[in-house]
Amino acid sequence: MIYLDNAATTPVHPKVLKVMLPYLEKQYGNPSGIYEFAEKSKDVIDGVRETIAASINAKPEEIYFTSGGTESDNWALVGMAEALKDKGRHIITTSIEHHAVINTCEYLKQRGFDITYLDVDSNGIINPRQLMKAIRKDTILISIMAANNETGSIQPVQVIGGIAKRNNICFHTDAVQAYLHMDIDVNKMNIGMMSASAHKFRGAKGCGFLYIRDGIKPAIFMHGGKQESGIRAGTENVPGIAGMGEAVRIAMQDMHKDIVYVRNMRDYLLYRIEHEIPGVVLNGSRHMRLPGNLNVSFLGIEGQSLLIMLDMDGICTSSGSACTAGTGGGSHVLKALGASGDRLKGALRMTLGTQNTMEEMDYVIWRLKENVAALRDKD
Ligand SMILES: *Cc1c(COP(=O)(O)O)cnc(C)c1O
Repeated sequence: MIYLDNAATTPVHPKVLKVMLPYLEKQYGNPSGIYEFAEKSKDVIDGVRETIAASINAKPEEIYFTSGGTESDNWALVGMAEALKDKGRHIITTSIEHHAVINTCEYLKQRGFDITYLDVDSNGIINPRQLMKAIRKDTILISIMAANNETGSIQPVQVIGGIAKRNNICFHTDAVQAYLHMDIDVNKMNIGMMSASAHKFRGAKGCGFLYIRDGIKPAIFMHGGKQESGIRAGTENVPGIAGMGEAVRIAMQDMHKDIVYVRNMRDYLLYRIEHEIPGVVLNGSRHMRLPGNLNVSFLGIEGQSLLIMLDMDGICTSSGSACTAGTGGGSHVLKALGASGDRLKGALRMTLGTQNTMEEMDYVIWRLKENVAALRDKD
């Protein structure tokens, strides 16, 4: 099997699994316990808090563990809406966010909040001037993703952070795709809150974190015990958190080397597709793009049909984001950057990771060529 769907999820790294296992077996103490056995569990999660904080230039007490990207996004948006509803009810986001943000904004809209969805250009990138124009007296939050899950387009995070800071508005970024695939410094970039998810960087599913800058106070989202400084209740996912720490450590160690390795593979794949298959359009920016992301439309065919043929060849890809695949109608992200008709229908996303190899790319290109030609021949 050749796995080219790393934006949907990644395989747990063998070293991560090794770190997790003891916490599922012998070291099962509840971190809230006050005997030594339990304190070992508390120590491990506090160690991970430090590792994560160091990776984004934050303080350990600004890292809050959650069940993943979706919860982090929900907490950031609903928490800030609830905390600041008397100050204002306007939120600015974009039309290309993950559904964890879009559907949460739609929920808030039903509760009386006003949402501005910023457009993107043909590269899938927002215009900072449009953001400045959208800011109102009652704007309480700007939520703009760092990089998009479908096209890999990277937003001008630092510019957005600067605008938010000058206007004294909290800036939340969904960095689930971007974290550990590009440099993130929450201070340099003026990020107020940031979502991340372990299973997108070789950790386990159901585990992530929300960075919340000192002084920013979203309302409590998970009510219960005193975990996470009393603002996110629930017994900590100790194995998941321990593994996430190891995944961060591994990724930080090799990040720049990995970016070059994955980007070279992706560029090779794109070069050969563009030179050997006619009727191909690249979706998203050529340069402001995550290293592992490739999203191309094969004109005149259905991306879904190509996906199924590739699946029979043992190649896993996606025709939209994993969450919308199969629902039809076409991707809201591709529509936002101006795709319609054949280009919308023929889209295929291939997202690469460090486990992939150049030999795999040769096989993928061969299968793409044959399958695209076969589908085009059919009609
Ligand atoms: C995967 C993803 C999420 C959701 O994260 P989960 O941990 O799967 O809930 C949110 N935003 C983006 C950009 C993602 O890629």
